[in-house]
Amino acid sequence: MLDELRSIVGPEHVRTDIDTIRENSTDATKICRPADVIVFPANAAEVAAIVRLSNRLGIPVVSRGGGVGYAGGAIPLKGGIVISLRRMNRILEIDPIDLVAVLEPGVITDDLQKAVESKGLFYPPDPASLKQSSIGGNVAHNAGGPRAFKYGVTRQYLLGLEVVLPTGEIVQTGGRVVKNSTGYDLTDLMCGAEGTLGIITRLTLRLIPKPEAAATIMALFGTAREAAAAATRLIAARIIPSKLELMDGQSLAAIRQYIKDEDIQTACTLPESAGALLLIEVDGSEPTVQSSLAEVRAVVIASGAEVREAENADDLWAIRRYMSPAVGRLRPNKINEDIVVPRSRVADYLDAMEALQRESGLPIVCFGHVGDGNLHVNLLIDAADPVELQKSEGVKRRIFELAVEMGGTISGEHGIGFMKSEFLPLALAPDTIAAMKRIKLAMDPNNIMNPGKIFP
Ligand SMILES: Cc1cc2nc3c(=O)[nH]c(=O)nc-3n(C[C@H](O)[C@H](O)[C@H](O)COP(=O)(O)OP(=O)(O)OC[C@H]3O[C@@H](n4cnc5c(N)ncnc54)[C@H](O)[C@@H]3O)c2cc1C
Repeated sequence: MLDELRSIVGPEHVRTDIDTIRENSTDATKICRPADVIVFPANAAEVAAIVRLSNRLGIPVVSRGGGVGYAGGAIPLKGGIVISLRRMNRILEIDPIDLVAVLEPGVITDDLQKAVESKGLFYPPDPASLKQSSIGGNVAHNAGGPRAFKYGVTRQYLLGLEVVLPTGEIVQTGGRVVKNSTGYDLTDLMCGAEGTLGIITRLTLRLIPKPEAAATIMALFGTAREAAAAATRLIAARIIPSKLELMDGQSLAAIRQYIKDEDIQTACTLPESAGALLLIEVDGSEPTVQSSLAEVRAVVIASGAEVREAENADDLWAIRRYMSPAVGRLRPNKINEDIVVPRSRVADYLDAMEALQRESGLPIVCFGHVGDGNLHVNLLIDAADPVELQKSEGVKRRIFELAVEMGGTISGEHGIGFMKSEFLPLALAPDTIAAMKRIKLAMDPNNIMNPGKIFP
């Protein structure tokens, strides 16, 4: 196999050394299941040749972008070949009339955003991992981010794909057009498929004009329930912020501690009295931003908030960026889930998480995209403690059950991977899972593409 791989991509792009294997066999979960070999192809023809080889020999093949997924999607559970798309990182075209970008899957999300913004255009999906995540990985998980509330998720910007199927054919889906009713929508099928149905080798993405201006308000509340209630009042008042993020009291305590420990000089302090906050951004033309800001201010103040504004909005958003490292150091292990509930149930869900924390004695820190009802629920444990580890299994299940009981689901943007596959039956009926499995079998008869993912 190794000789054939070398002849496909060149010997220097086939790696079996332990450092490269380790680096490319894990993701943000930090779980590692070593691949046998990591391959770095340069184009779709090379990807297709690798997949044909893997299909002929029955060897698992896993595609990998930035490797910062939270569901274990890029981890080669059953060994085999990891195809890193890192070398396929060219932005091929940005067209200001068709309003599209054509690019390879290994382009880093932030690089695409900067490139289109330099031309006055906008690609809104903004996962907080955008400096490391790839566009291919974003499509594979249908990534969202803070702007999803107003602008939607990756799926809404996907027009066409070039994909290598598990049987090795290179197919084109969708196109460069914004309307398309031509046959089954294979583009949509690939989005969120977590690299189980094909490897994306080229993308055509929809762009929109870049908003002229944006401004941010930080609204501090006594409790998470009050913050969630203020978010629903904003929506009821027909205000659609471009970002609407919530952090609970434990998130704020962790960030305060992080700022102190790291001796960070910040223009934005978080008072001890604050038990939750909303970060709210509005965008549009300059006059629209000013009037929207006034409306937002009025609603949150009427909801009991203390309001902070800053000359430089980045001073406020820095608080959100500290979140992941700050929460990550509270306990040895952080299990980051991303449930979704209908917006109207966010306050109830936050209450339920407080009750679950009290019952279990395990810290549960919640923050996230409250405008979408999409919360990141962080269960903090010491996995070296067998009692705690076992208890965490029951708590995890409850986190998902409660989301489903409230009319929601078990993942809003991180996907299922293998971290959540055992919980899939909580969210989907047996016939739905069976239909999905039939699609997988039809497209990947030898089950070589990212086996062990999504399905229990
Ligand atoms: C600190 C932090 C913050 C985050 N914030 C957000 C957030 O706000 N919103 C959000 O949605 N996610 C977020 N995430 C999760 C993660 O970054 C996203 O899921 C992201 O889309 C993963 O991209 P990646 O390139 O790292 O994918 P990888 O981890 O490399 O792969 C993820 C999956 O995509 C598949 N894949 C990769 N490339 C391809 C391809 N070319 N074709 C087909 N399948 C492919 C893989 O096989 C795997 O199943 C966050 C993660 C971290 C660590």
